Amino acid sequence: MFIGLLLRGLIILIFISGSVVISNFITRVVAFLVPYPAISEILLWSGTVFISAAMLMGISYYYVYQGFGAQADIIRRRPQKGNKVVLTFDDGPSAIYTPQILKTLKDKGVKATFFLVGKHVEKYPELAARITAEGHEVGNHTYGHITVPNTPSPQLTAQIMRANLVIFQHTGTYPPYLRPPRGLYDMRMRRIAMLLGQELVLWSLSAQDWHPRATAAGVVKRVVEKAVPGDIILFHDSGSLLATEGSNRGPTVDALGPIIDGLRARGLEISTLEEFLVSVDQHKKAN
Ligand SMILES: [Zn+2]
Repeated sequence: MFIGLLLRGLIILIFISGSVVISNFITRVVAFLVPYPAISEILLWSGTVFISAAMLMGISYYYVYQGFGAQADIIRRRPQKGNKVVLTFDDGPSAIYTPQILKTLKDKGVKATFFLVGKHVEKYPELAARITAEGHEVGNHTYGHITVPNTPSPQLTAQIMRANLVIFQHTGTYPPYLRPPRGLYDMRMRRIAMLLGQELVLWSLSAQDWHPRATAAGVVKRVVEKAVPGDIILFHDSGSLLATEGSNRGPTVDALGPIIDGLRARGLEISTLEEFLVSVDQHKKAN
């Protein structure tokens, strides 16, 4: 515990000093190129401060996003002997895109996992029910798509439990999985997941279909080229950068069919999260 803390402290120190050195170097070069001494003087310190702050923000985002070290209770990807990958869809249901995605999945005979936003389930209960009726799995993506680390504990607990409740109410299924919005979780969320008997599931390959400039062709290329056995692939059937829904998910809808074909052509088998996890556990026991 103590050594772990010390190590983390050391890593943070290295990051801070490293980013200061790098940004100081960058600003020195820029200041050297500016012919006015007064301006280059100001650039020298302000540039260093701003660039190192930006670098540290980037690092801390990565830190929360990817986590450091092995966290056995969080599933991003399972070591695979087989060839399974999992398709997951966040932020729905959406009245426009979820039905189209469900149709493609049915046509291709694929089962996926939908991480539902509680208030969207309340808004489109018949779509939530259709997801489980068609054999797909559901997970909890909080009630209002909150940012977990800055939500006070009472609200965080309420957000997760309320989403569980509405999902159970409208689909008849208790969501076995929990996925924090934007992948931002903390220790409290891990404890809540344990208490509620849910597995914290992140992803290992993002389709990046949330990007405002995403195209179907780009999404297909990215996923089909990058996927490896054991990947949990992230898509969005709803959502928005500012609100919780409203973005165009046309690229996701258009990319899905070609992605399924492309993954299969590469010998990858698309399975549900449940099968995926069971097959891994069996594999582990067998060894
Ligand atoms: Zn989300």
